[in-house]
Amino acid sequence: MLKVCKFGGTSMANAENFGKVKSIITAENERKFVVVSAPGKRDKSDIKITDLLYKCYDDVISIGSCHDTFKLIRDRFTEIVKDLGLNFDIESVLDETEKGIDAEKTTPDFAASRGEYLSARVMAEYLGYTFVDAADLIRFDSNGNLNAVYTDDKIKTKLSGIENVVIPGFYGKDSFGKIKTFSRGGSDVTGSIIAKGVSADLYENWTDVSGFLVCDPRIVPEAQIIDTLSYSELRELSYMGASVLHAEAIFPLITSKIPINIRNTFRPQDKGTMIVPTEHGYNPDKVITGIAGKKNFSVISIEKSLMNNEVGFIRKVLSVVEHYGLCVEHVPSGIDTLSVILSSEELKNGVLDDVVREIRESVAPDYIHVIENVALIATVGHGMARRSGTASKIFTALAEANVNIKMIDQGSSEQNIIIGVAGSDYEKCIRTIYNAFFGA
Ligand code: ADP
Ligand code: ASP
Ligand code: MG
Repeated sequence: MLKVCKFGGTSMANAENFGKVKSIITAENERKFVVVSAPGKRDKSDIKITDLLYKCYDDVISIGSCHDTFKLIRDRFTEIVKDLGLNFDIESVLDETEKGIDAEKTTPDFAASRGEYLSARVMAEYLGYTFVDAADLIRFDSNGNLNAVYTDDKIKTKLSGIENVVIPGFYGKDSFGKIKTFSRGGSDVTGSIIAKGVSADLYENWTDVSGFLVCDPRIVPEAQIIDTLSYSELRELSYMGASVLHAEAIFPLITSKIPINIRNTFRPQDKGTMIVPTEHGYNPDKVITGIAGKKNFSVISIEKSLMNNEVGFIRKVLSVVEHYGLCVEHVPSGIDTLSVILSSEELKNGVLDDVVREIRESVAPDYIHVIENVALIATVGHGMARRSGTASKIFTALAEANVNIKMIDQGSSEQNIIIGVAGSDYEKCIRTIYNAFFGA
Protein backbone atom coordinates (compact mmCIF):
# COMPACT_ATOMS: atom_id res chain seq x y z
CA MET A 1 0.00 0.00 0.00
CA LEU A 2 1.54 3.29 -1.09
CA LYS A 3 0.22 6.58 0.26
CA VAL A 4 0.69 10.21 -0.73
CA CYS A 5 -0.02 12.55 2.19
CA LYS A 6 -0.80 16.24 1.76
CA PHE A 7 -0.72 18.52 4.79
CA GLY A 8 -2.61 21.82 4.65
CA GLY A 9 -1.83 25.25 6.05
CA THR A 10 -2.94 24.75 9.66
CA SER A 11 -0.93 21.53 9.84
CA MET A 12 2.17 23.56 8.94
CA ALA A 13 1.41 26.65 11.05
CA ASN A 14 4.12 26.22 13.72
CA ALA A 15 6.76 23.85 15.10
CA GLU A 16 4.26 22.06 17.33
CA ASN A 17 2.14 21.18 14.30
CA PHE A 18 5.24 20.09 12.35
CA GLY A 19 5.71 17.66 15.24
CA LYS A 20 2.17 16.29 14.79
CA VAL A 21 2.82 15.88 11.06
CA LYS A 22 6.00 13.95 11.78
CA SER A 23 4.24 11.54 14.12
CA ILE A 24 1.57 10.87 11.51
CA ILE A 25 4.14 10.20 8.79
CA THR A 26 6.34 7.99 10.90
CA ALA A 27 3.37 6.03 12.27
CA GLU A 28 3.09 4.12 8.95
CA ASN A 29 5.90 3.46 6.56
CA GLU A 30 3.43 3.44 3.68
CA ARG A 31 3.41 7.26 3.89
CA LYS A 32 6.31 7.81 1.51
CA PHE A 33 5.37 10.94 -0.43
CA VAL A 34 4.56 14.12 1.45
CA VAL A 35 3.12 17.27 -0.14
CA VAL A 36 2.98 20.41 2.01
CA SER A 37 1.21 23.77 1.99
CA ALA A 38 2.61 27.05 3.26
CA PRO A 39 2.14 27.75 6.97
CA GLY A 40 -1.43 28.90 7.63
CA LYS A 41 -2.93 30.84 10.51
CA ARG A 42 -1.83 30.02 14.09
CA ASP A 43 -4.98 31.66 15.41
CA LYS A 44 -7.95 33.58 14.06
CA SER A 45 -6.16 36.94 13.91
CA ASP A 46 -3.02 35.59 12.22
CA ILE A 47 -2.17 36.06 8.51
CA LYS A 48 -1.45 33.13 6.18
CA ILE A 49 2.08 33.09 4.78
CA THR A 50 0.64 32.95 1.23
CA ASP A 51 -1.32 36.15 1.85
CA LEU A 52 1.84 37.85 3.11
CA LEU A 53 3.67 36.69 -0.02
CA TYR A 54 1.03 38.24 -2.29
CA LYS A 55 1.54 41.43 -0.27
CA CYS A 56 5.32 41.13 -0.89
CA TYR A 57 4.66 41.15 -4.64
CA ASP A 58 2.40 44.22 -4.31
CA ASP A 59 5.16 45.95 -2.31
CA VAL A 60 7.73 45.18 -5.01
CA ILE A 61 5.44 46.72 -7.62
CA SER A 62 4.52 49.78 -5.54
CA ILE A 63 7.69 50.57 -3.59
CA GLY A 64 10.35 48.43 -5.28
CA SER A 65 11.13 46.12 -2.34
CA CYS A 66 9.37 43.50 -0.21
CA HIS A 67 11.80 43.89 2.68
CA ASP A 68 9.38 44.98 5.43
CA THR A 69 6.63 42.47 4.68
CA PHE A 70 9.16 39.70 4.07
CA LYS A 71 10.47 40.28 7.60
CA LEU A 72 7.21 38.75 8.95
CA ILE A 73 7.76 35.65 6.79
CA ARG A 74 11.42 35.48 7.77
CA ASP A 75 10.46 35.56 11.46
CA ARG A 76 7.87 32.78 11.06
CA PHE A 77 10.30 30.37 9.37
CA THR A 78 13.23 31.26 11.62
CA GLU A 79 11.05 30.54 14.64
CA ILE A 80 9.85 27.19 13.27
CA VAL A 81 13.43 26.08 12.51
CA LYS A 82 14.63 27.23 15.92
CA ASP A 83 11.73 25.57 17.79
CA LEU A 84 12.31 22.32 15.91
CA GLY A 85 15.96 22.46 17.00
CA LEU A 86 17.18 22.00 13.42
CA ASN A 87 20.72 22.65 12.36
CA PHE A 88 19.60 24.13 9.03
CA ASP A 89 20.81 27.39 7.51
CA ILE A 90 17.34 28.81 6.84
CA GLU A 91 18.72 32.38 6.78
CA SER A 92 20.58 31.79 3.49
CA VAL A 93 17.48 30.22 1.93
CA LEU A 94 15.40 33.19 3.11
CA ASP A 95 17.95 35.73 1.78
CA GLU A 96 17.90 34.07 -1.62
CA THR A 97 14.07 33.95 -1.57
CA GLU A 98 13.77 37.65 -0.71
CA LYS A 99 16.13 38.56 -3.55
CA GLY A 100 14.14 36.40 -5.96
CA ILE A 101 10.85 38.07 -4.96
CA ASP A 102 12.36 41.55 -5.37
CA ALA A 103 13.53 40.61 -8.87
CA GLU A 104 10.21 39.22 -10.19
CA LYS A 105 8.00 42.02 -11.45
CA THR A 106 5.73 40.36 -14.01
CA THR A 107 3.40 38.08 -12.00
CA PRO A 108 2.81 37.35 -8.29
CA ASP A 109 3.20 33.58 -8.85
CA PHE A 110 6.87 33.29 -7.91
CA ALA A 111 6.33 35.20 -4.66
CA ALA A 112 3.15 33.26 -3.81
CA SER A 113 4.85 29.90 -4.37
CA ARG A 114 7.64 30.52 -1.87
CA GLY A 115 5.53 29.63 1.18
CA GLU A 116 5.22 26.04 -0.04
CA TYR A 117 8.87 26.01 -1.16
CA LEU A 118 10.17 27.10 2.26
CA SER A 119 7.75 24.89 4.14
CA ALA A 120 8.87 21.84 2.13
CA ARG A 121 12.55 22.64 2.60
CA VAL A 122 12.09 22.77 6.39
CA MET A 123 9.85 19.68 6.52
CA ALA A 124 12.33 17.65 4.43
CA GLU A 125 15.10 18.64 6.82
CA TYR A 126 12.98 17.77 9.87
CA LEU A 127 11.90 14.36 8.55
CA GLY A 128 15.28 13.53 7.02
CA TYR A 129 13.47 13.07 3.68
CA THR A 130 14.59 14.16 0.20
CA PHE A 131 13.30 17.54 -1.01
CA VAL A 132 12.10 17.44 -4.63
CA ASP A 133 11.02 20.76 -6.12
CA ALA A 134 7.54 20.84 -7.71
CA ALA A 135 9.09 23.12 -10.36
CA ASP A 136 10.94 20.05 -11.66
CA LEU A 137 7.80 17.92 -11.78
CA ILE A 138 4.72 19.97 -12.64
CA ARG A 139 4.39 21.71 -16.00
CA PHE A 140 1.69 23.99 -17.41
CA ASP A 141 1.06 24.45 -21.15
CA SER A 142 1.00 27.75 -23.04
CA ASN A 143 -2.72 28.20 -22.20
CA GLY A 144 -1.98 27.95 -18.49
CA ASN A 145 -3.52 24.48 -18.14
CA LEU A 146 -1.74 21.56 -16.56
CA ASN A 147 0.32 19.62 -19.11
CA ALA A 148 -0.75 16.30 -17.63
CA VAL A 149 1.21 14.03 -19.97
CA TYR A 150 4.51 15.87 -19.52
CA THR A 151 3.97 16.14 -15.75
CA ASP A 152 3.09 12.48 -15.29
CA ASP A 153 6.15 11.48 -17.27
CA LYS A 154 8.42 13.77 -15.21
CA ILE A 155 7.06 12.42 -11.92
CA LYS A 156 7.59 8.85 -13.08
CA THR A 157 11.20 9.50 -14.09
CA LYS A 158 12.23 11.86 -11.27
CA LEU A 159 10.56 10.00 -8.42
CA SER A 160 11.16 6.44 -9.51
CA GLY A 161 13.47 4.66 -7.14
CA ILE A 162 13.29 7.36 -4.45
CA GLU A 163 11.12 7.03 -1.42
CA ASN A 164 10.52 9.37 1.47
CA VAL A 165 10.19 12.58 -0.43
CA VAL A 166 8.78 16.02 0.47
CA ILE A 167 7.32 18.09 -2.38
CA PRO A 168 5.97 21.64 -2.11
CA GLY A 169 2.33 22.03 -3.18
CA PHE A 170 0.60 24.78 -5.17
CA TYR A 171 3.03 25.41 -8.07
CA GLY A 172 4.95 24.18 -11.08
CA LYS A 173 6.54 25.79 -14.13
CA ASP A 174 4.92 27.32 -17.20
CA SER A 175 5.99 26.58 -20.78
CA PHE A 176 8.64 29.34 -20.58
CA GLY A 177 10.15 27.83 -17.43
CA LYS A 178 8.74 30.43 -15.05
CA ILE A 179 7.07 29.53 -11.76
CA LYS A 180 3.28 29.35 -12.03
CA THR A 181 0.77 28.54 -9.28
CA PHE A 182 -2.60 26.84 -9.31
CA SER A 183 -5.53 28.86 -7.98
CA ARG A 184 -5.81 29.33 -4.20
CA GLY A 185 -5.92 26.09 -2.22
CA GLY A 186 -4.04 24.39 -5.07
CA SER A 187 -1.77 22.20 -2.93
CA ASP A 188 -4.69 19.76 -2.92
CA VAL A 189 -4.27 19.49 -6.71
CA THR A 190 -0.52 18.90 -6.34
CA GLY A 191 -1.28 16.02 -3.97
CA SER A 192 -3.60 14.44 -6.55
CA ILE A 193 -1.07 14.85 -9.37
CA ILE A 194 1.67 13.20 -7.30
CA ALA A 195 -0.69 10.40 -6.20
CA LYS A 196 -1.47 9.63 -9.83
CA GLY A 197 2.18 9.95 -10.93
CA VAL A 198 3.53 7.51 -8.33
CA SER A 199 0.46 5.20 -8.70
CA ALA A 200 -0.46 5.56 -5.04
CA ASP A 201 -3.16 3.34 -3.55
CA LEU A 202 -4.47 6.19 -1.42
CA TYR A 203 -4.23 9.99 -1.30
CA GLU A 204 -4.47 11.18 2.31
CA ASN A 205 -5.40 14.85 2.59
CA TRP A 206 -4.64 15.99 6.15
CA THR A 207 -6.40 19.15 7.24
CA ASP A 208 -7.93 20.74 10.36
CA VAL A 209 -11.38 19.05 10.30
CA SER A 210 -12.22 15.37 10.80
CA GLY A 211 -13.54 14.93 7.28
CA PHE A 212 -15.83 16.40 4.72
CA LEU A 213 -18.82 17.64 6.68
CA VAL A 214 -22.38 17.75 5.43
CA CYS A 215 -22.03 21.54 5.35
CA ASP A 216 -19.64 24.28 6.32
CA PRO A 217 -18.92 23.96 10.07
CA ARG A 218 -18.65 27.73 10.31
CA ILE A 219 -22.41 27.83 9.55
CA VAL A 220 -23.54 24.62 11.24
CA PRO A 221 -20.99 23.78 13.96
CA GLU A 222 -22.64 20.42 14.69
CA ALA A 223 -22.57 19.32 11.02
CA GLN A 224 -22.10 15.56 10.67
CA ILE A 225 -19.09 14.00 8.96
CA ILE A 226 -19.79 12.38 5.61
CA ASP A 227 -18.22 8.92 5.74
CA THR A 228 -18.19 8.26 1.98
CA LEU A 229 -18.51 10.70 -0.87
CA SER A 230 -18.35 9.97 -4.60
CA TYR A 231 -16.03 11.86 -6.96
CA SER A 232 -19.01 13.53 -8.63
CA GLU A 233 -20.66 14.55 -5.35
CA LEU A 234 -17.33 15.98 -4.26
CA ARG A 235 -17.06 17.90 -7.50
CA GLU A 236 -20.53 19.43 -7.03
CA LEU A 237 -19.89 20.31 -3.39
CA SER A 238 -16.40 21.71 -3.77
CA TYR A 239 -17.32 23.68 -6.89
CA MET A 240 -20.26 25.13 -4.97
CA GLY A 241 -18.01 26.34 -2.18
CA ALA A 242 -17.18 23.48 0.22
CA SER A 243 -13.64 24.72 0.53
CA VAL A 244 -12.19 21.73 2.36
CA LEU A 245 -10.83 20.38 -0.92
CA HIS A 246 -9.94 22.25 -4.14
CA ALA A 247 -12.67 21.79 -6.77
CA GLU A 248 -10.16 20.47 -9.32
CA ALA A 249 -8.43 17.99 -7.06
CA ILE A 250 -10.27 14.94 -8.38
CA PHE A 251 -9.41 15.32 -12.07
CA PRO A 252 -5.93 13.76 -11.91
CA LEU A 253 -7.37 10.77 -10.02
CA ILE A 254 -10.38 9.88 -12.18
CA THR A 255 -8.69 7.46 -14.60
CA SER A 256 -6.66 5.63 -11.98
CA LYS A 257 -9.59 5.71 -9.50
CA ILE A 258 -7.36 6.52 -6.51
CA PRO A 259 -9.48 7.29 -3.42
CA ILE A 260 -8.92 10.39 -1.28
CA ASN A 261 -9.11 10.18 2.49
CA ILE A 262 -9.73 13.52 4.25
CA ARG A 263 -8.09 13.32 7.70
CA ASN A 264 -7.57 15.59 10.69
CA THR A 265 -3.95 16.28 11.71
CA PHE A 266 -5.21 17.21 15.18
CA ARG A 267 -7.34 14.06 15.62
CA PRO A 268 -5.44 11.37 13.72
CA GLN A 269 -7.56 8.70 15.42
CA ASP A 270 -10.64 9.82 13.42
CA LYS A 271 -11.13 7.90 10.20
CA GLY A 272 -12.28 10.95 8.21
CA THR A 273 -14.07 10.90 4.85
CA MET A 274 -13.35 8.55 1.95
CA ILE A 275 -13.87 10.05 -1.50
CA VAL A 276 -14.24 7.22 -3.98
CA PRO A 277 -14.96 6.72 -7.71
CA THR A 278 -18.57 7.55 -8.44
CA GLU A 279 -19.68 3.98 -9.10
CA HIS A 280 -18.39 2.98 -5.65
CA GLY A 281 -19.87 5.98 -3.90
CA TYR A 282 -23.56 5.28 -3.94
CA ASN A 283 -25.15 4.59 -0.61
CA PRO A 284 -28.82 3.73 -1.28
CA ASP A 285 -29.91 4.68 2.25
CA LYS A 286 -28.70 8.24 1.98
CA VAL A 287 -30.96 10.78 0.28
CA ILE A 288 -28.67 13.76 0.41
CA THR A 289 -24.95 13.80 0.99
CA GLY A 290 -24.08 17.44 1.48
CA ILE A 291 -25.02 21.09 1.18
CA ALA A 292 -22.74 23.86 -0.08
CA GLY A 293 -23.13 27.35 -1.39
CA LYS A 294 -21.60 30.56 -2.61
CA LYS A 295 -22.60 34.19 -2.33
CA ASN A 296 -22.35 37.11 -4.71
CA PHE A 297 -24.20 36.23 -7.91
CA SER A 298 -26.28 38.41 -10.24
CA VAL A 299 -29.36 37.13 -12.04
CA ILE A 300 -30.26 38.73 -15.37
CA SER A 301 -33.89 37.87 -15.86
CA ILE A 302 -35.40 38.17 -19.35
CA GLU A 303 -39.08 37.94 -20.30
CA LYS A 304 -40.54 37.85 -23.79
CA SER A 305 -43.88 36.44 -24.92
CA LEU A 306 -43.49 33.46 -27.27
CA MET A 307 -39.74 33.38 -26.61
CA ASN A 308 -39.92 29.60 -27.00
CA ASN A 309 -40.99 29.98 -30.67
CA GLU A 310 -38.14 32.28 -31.52
CA VAL A 311 -35.35 30.18 -33.04
CA GLY A 312 -31.93 31.11 -31.68
CA PHE A 313 -33.21 33.17 -28.72
CA ILE A 314 -31.08 31.46 -26.06
CA ARG A 315 -28.05 31.41 -28.36
CA LYS A 316 -28.30 35.17 -28.95
CA VAL A 317 -28.47 35.90 -25.21
CA LEU A 318 -25.56 33.60 -24.46
CA SER A 319 -23.50 35.06 -27.34
CA VAL A 320 -23.60 38.43 -25.59
CA VAL A 321 -22.38 36.82 -22.38
CA GLU A 322 -19.67 34.97 -24.29
CA HIS A 323 -18.61 38.16 -26.04
CA TYR A 324 -17.73 39.60 -22.61
CA GLY A 325 -15.80 36.44 -21.69
CA LEU A 326 -18.12 35.63 -18.78
CA CYS A 327 -18.68 32.12 -17.36
CA VAL A 328 -22.36 31.24 -17.05
CA GLU A 329 -23.22 29.63 -13.73
CA HIS A 330 -26.84 28.58 -14.52
CA VAL A 331 -29.51 29.27 -17.13
CA PRO A 332 -32.91 28.39 -15.65
CA SER A 333 -35.72 28.90 -18.16
CA GLY A 334 -39.53 28.88 -18.46
CA ILE A 335 -41.79 29.20 -21.50
CA ASP A 336 -41.49 32.96 -21.77
CA THR A 337 -38.67 33.59 -19.32
CA LEU A 338 -34.96 33.01 -19.22
CA SER A 339 -32.50 33.88 -16.49
CA VAL A 340 -28.75 33.99 -16.75
CA ILE A 341 -26.83 33.68 -13.49
CA LEU A 342 -23.34 35.12 -13.40
CA SER A 343 -20.73 35.81 -10.75
CA SER A 344 -21.09 39.47 -9.70
CA GLU A 345 -17.31 39.67 -9.40
CA GLU A 346 -17.05 39.47 -13.21
CA LEU A 347 -19.70 42.14 -13.78
CA LYS A 348 -17.92 45.00 -12.06
CA ASN A 349 -16.78 48.28 -13.63
CA GLY A 350 -19.81 48.78 -15.87
CA VAL A 351 -19.74 45.30 -17.46
CA LEU A 352 -23.24 44.48 -16.13
CA ASP A 353 -24.78 47.58 -17.76
CA ASP A 354 -23.06 46.81 -21.06
CA VAL A 355 -24.26 43.18 -21.01
CA VAL A 356 -27.86 44.21 -20.26
CA ARG A 357 -27.81 46.84 -23.03
CA GLU A 358 -26.47 44.36 -25.59
CA ILE A 359 -29.02 41.70 -24.62
CA ARG A 360 -31.75 44.33 -25.09
CA GLU A 361 -30.42 45.21 -28.53
CA SER A 362 -29.96 41.59 -29.52
CA VAL A 363 -33.32 40.00 -28.53
CA ALA A 364 -35.68 42.94 -27.81
CA PRO A 365 -37.18 41.46 -24.62
CA ASP A 366 -40.52 42.66 -23.19
CA TYR A 367 -38.84 43.03 -19.83
CA ILE A 368 -35.33 42.62 -18.48
CA HIS A 369 -34.20 43.16 -14.92
CA VAL A 370 -31.29 42.29 -12.69
CA ILE A 371 -31.35 40.86 -9.18
CA GLU A 372 -28.10 41.36 -7.35
CA ASN A 373 -26.61 39.84 -4.22
CA VAL A 374 -28.00 36.36 -4.81
CA ALA A 375 -26.54 33.32 -3.03
CA LEU A 376 -26.66 29.88 -4.65
CA ILE A 377 -27.05 26.79 -2.51
CA ALA A 378 -26.62 23.25 -3.79
CA THR A 379 -28.13 20.23 -2.08
CA VAL A 380 -26.22 17.25 -3.43
CA GLY A 381 -26.65 13.47 -3.34
CA HIS A 382 -26.89 10.50 -5.71
CA GLY A 383 -29.74 9.16 -3.61
CA MET A 384 -32.05 11.97 -4.73
CA ALA A 385 -32.63 10.47 -8.17
CA ARG A 386 -34.23 7.37 -6.64
CA ARG A 387 -36.35 9.04 -4.00
CA SER A 388 -39.30 11.30 -4.50
CA GLY A 389 -40.10 14.21 -2.24
CA THR A 390 -36.59 15.60 -1.73
CA ALA A 391 -37.38 18.90 -3.44
CA SER A 392 -40.66 19.31 -1.59
CA LYS A 393 -38.93 18.66 1.72
CA ILE A 394 -36.40 21.43 0.95
CA PHE A 395 -39.05 23.90 -0.21
CA THR A 396 -41.42 23.21 2.69
CA ALA A 397 -38.64 23.71 5.22
CA LEU A 398 -37.54 26.96 3.57
CA ALA A 399 -41.12 28.25 3.38
CA GLU A 400 -41.60 27.54 7.09
CA ALA A 401 -38.37 29.42 7.80
CA ASN A 402 -39.60 32.36 5.68
CA VAL A 403 -36.78 32.08 3.18
CA ASN A 404 -37.83 33.42 -0.20
CA ILE A 405 -36.56 31.30 -3.11
CA LYS A 406 -35.59 33.34 -6.17
CA MET A 407 -34.49 30.56 -8.49
CA ILE A 408 -34.54 26.75 -8.72
CA ASP A 409 -32.42 24.58 -10.97
CA GLN A 410 -32.07 20.82 -10.98
CA GLY A 411 -29.24 19.11 -12.87
CA SER A 412 -30.37 16.43 -15.33
CA SER A 413 -28.31 13.87 -13.41
CA GLU A 414 -30.73 14.52 -10.52
CA GLN A 415 -27.91 14.57 -8.05
CA ASN A 416 -28.29 18.21 -7.14
CA ILE A 417 -30.94 20.83 -6.53
CA ILE A 418 -29.68 24.38 -6.72
CA ILE A 419 -31.64 27.27 -5.33
CA GLY A 420 -31.00 31.00 -5.36
CA VAL A 421 -31.86 33.11 -2.30
CA ALA A 422 -31.01 36.63 -1.11
CA GLY A 423 -27.43 36.86 0.13
CA SER A 424 -28.75 37.82 3.57
CA ASP A 425 -30.65 34.48 3.79
CA TYR A 426 -27.58 32.39 2.90
CA GLU A 427 -26.62 31.04 6.34
CA LYS A 428 -30.25 30.61 7.40
CA CYS A 429 -31.00 28.67 4.22
CA ILE A 430 -28.09 26.25 4.74
CA ARG A 431 -29.06 25.72 8.39
CA THR A 432 -32.70 25.12 7.45
CA ILE A 433 -31.89 22.49 4.79
CA TYR A 434 -29.43 20.83 7.18
CA ASN A 435 -32.06 20.61 9.92
CA ALA A 436 -34.67 19.26 7.51
CA PHE A 437 -32.50 16.25 6.61
CA PHE A 438 -30.12 15.81 9.52
CA GLY A 439 -31.80 17.58 12.44
CA ALA A 440 -32.85 15.72 15.53
P1 ADP B 1 -6.04 23.26 4.45
O1 ADP B 1 -5.25 24.47 4.79
O2 ADP B 1 -5.75 22.09 5.32
O3 ADP B 1 -5.99 22.95 2.99
P2 ADP B 1 -8.63 24.55 4.18
O4 ADP B 1 -8.79 25.74 5.02
O5 ADP B 1 -8.35 24.72 2.73
O6 ADP B 1 -7.54 23.61 4.86
O7 ADP B 1 -9.93 23.62 4.32
C1 ADP B 1 -10.40 23.21 5.57
C2 ADP B 1 -11.52 24.15 6.04
O8 ADP B 1 -12.62 24.06 5.12
C3 ADP B 1 -12.12 23.78 7.36
O9 ADP B 1 -11.40 24.33 8.44
C4 ADP B 1 -13.54 24.37 7.26
O10 ADP B 1 -13.63 25.60 7.93
C5 ADP B 1 -13.76 24.62 5.78
N1 ADP B 1 -14.96 23.96 5.24
C6 ADP B 1 -15.90 24.55 4.43
N2 ADP B 1 -16.86 23.68 4.09
C7 ADP B 1 -16.54 22.51 4.69
C8 ADP B 1 -17.15 21.21 4.73
N3 ADP B 1 -18.29 20.95 4.07
N4 ADP B 1 -16.54 20.25 5.46
C9 ADP B 1 -15.40 20.49 6.13
N5 ADP B 1 -14.77 21.68 6.14
C10 ADP B 1 -15.33 22.69 5.43
N1 ASP C 1 -0.88 28.24 0.21
C1 ASP C 1 -1.80 28.29 -0.90
C2 ASP C 1 -3.04 29.07 -0.52
O1 ASP C 1 -3.11 29.62 0.57
C3 ASP C 1 -2.12 26.93 -1.45
C4 ASP C 1 -2.71 25.95 -0.47
O2 ASP C 1 -2.69 26.16 0.74
O3 ASP C 1 -3.22 24.91 -0.94
O4 ASP C 1 -3.95 29.19 -1.31
MG1 MG D 1 -7.02 23.82 1.41
